[in-house]
Amino acid sequence: MIVMKFGGSSVDSPSSIERVVGIVRSLLDRKPVVVVSAMAKTTRRLLRCADAAASGDLDMPRAFAILNELRDFHWQIAHAVVEPGGHGVLEAMLDRYFGELREQIDEVAAAGRLSARAADAVASFGELLSSAILSLALDRPEDGIEAPWIDCRQVLVTDDSFNRAKPIYEQTEPRMRKAFLPHVEAGRVPVVGGYVGATRDGITTTLGKEGSDFSAAIVGAALGAEEVQIWTDVDGMMTADPRIVRGARCIRTLSFGEALELACSGAKKPHWGTLGPASRADVPIRILNSWAPHLDRGIGEGTLIGRRNPAAKPGIKSVTWRANAHRVTVRGVHGGGPGFRSDVFAVCERYRPALMVVDAGPEEVELALGQADRLFEIRAALTQTGEVHVAPGQAVVTLVSDDLAADPELATRILTLIGALAEKAEPRLVTKGVAAPCIRCLVSEESAPDAVTLLHEKIFGHRPGEPVE
Ligand code: ADP
Ligand code: MG
Repeated sequence: MIVMKFGGSSVDSPSSIERVVGIVRSLLDRKPVVVVSAMAKTTRRLLRCADAAASGDLDMPRAFAILNELRDFHWQIAHAVVEPGGHGVLEAMLDRYFGELREQIDEVAAAGRLSARAADAVASFGELLSSAILSLALDRPEDGIEAPWIDCRQVLVTDDSFNRAKPIYEQTEPRMRKAFLPHVEAGRVPVVGGYVGATRDGITTTLGKEGSDFSAAIVGAALGAEEVQIWTDVDGMMTADPRIVRGARCIRTLSFGEALELACSGAKKPHWGTLGPASRADVPIRILNSWAPHLDRGIGEGTLIGRRNPAAKPGIKSVTWRANAHRVTVRGVHGGGPGFRSDVFAVCERYRPALMVVDAGPEEVELALGQADRLFEIRAALTQTGEVHVAPGQAVVTLVSDDLAADPELATRILTLIGALAEKAEPRLVTKGVAAPCIRCLVSEESAPDAVTLLHEKIFGHRPGEPVE
């Protein structure tokens, strides 16, 4: 049994959905369960619609215009991919969901504000619609394929932290097994929406941005899948963000720790949440390209994320970066004093891993804060130890590899490369990974794309088509 997850970019038009149907059909012998995101841009449009409704009568026409646009978009795609015999069921489903969505929007308008709870209720329609449409498109009883729809709100139980709900595994796993396994055993292909769940009391929640990958891993872990496949629009995890670095190459294998470190350091894929359930259940994750599945030659290999592969050649796996970082300088009053450094380090320990040490002298300690969200608290804590200066507009560049721990030569080589950036980026070094060994450096936000491109070129050279082992 495998879990196949398709992202918004894989279900954005009738031809993409046909392609997805083809990919799923080609893997029927592996007993797939399908998890799907909302169709491209739908979540954003739904939330824009709710925002317009919350801002008052004057904006209601805009809310209704978005609603109509969403209706037309889903109606057209769905009619193109569902066989005419299924159109009756399809139209009833679309009417029901758009009726319910309209009620939600009216409630938001009446409240005059968009609560986190209402935002989740509105956003959930993206996955409810895409999963229902995909299930109808896959369902071809005349070809012997049945694709029952599973309501994600019935199987993924979460707490009530709306917009970033946490799964409650003890309740979710038995529900998932009960809902999916009988279908899988009977040769059917269940389809479920990602990203969305509900509390024990049935109130709709979402797992947060890009949460469908996370849902797929939760399903895979609950069902003990052979593999969770995340189908997207690139060949796999890449050695750098392919939108910034043209020569980025596909990585063949990553350990769970390396993937988690990358996901937390700015790589868009996979969602950081996927690694927890997958590694706990020891279910590998494979990232694959739904635009180039190489169906004729068996699927492309993509990137396999799993247990560490001891046979792989040692080297850096990927370079990634995250903007919106801050450089925090703490100067000890009266030239430091005996307790100064340990006081600063105590604050670092408390706010780990948000706060990383860059450089520590007797009178001055330089730190990097990877995200702005705890700046206020951290600044207050550091003010107790000395004079604090904060420079925003920084980026943290991260190079990840398990091999950095065992191979001092590799680390030395990377440090030399970073040193050579000095003219361009004025980098400052931060070591220490959270999930896997890595080397980080802090550079200004504007110079980050250049710094990443340069480091990438030095490490991976110009062999774009060639995968990195
Ligand atoms: P989906 O719609 O399938 O969920 P996303 O758009 O959320 O896909 O994520 C895929 C995108 O992530 C890719 O198109 C790619 O541009 C971007 N990306 C950024 N960094 C990386 C990386 N290191 N490896 C692979 N993809 C990356
Ligand atoms: Mg996505």
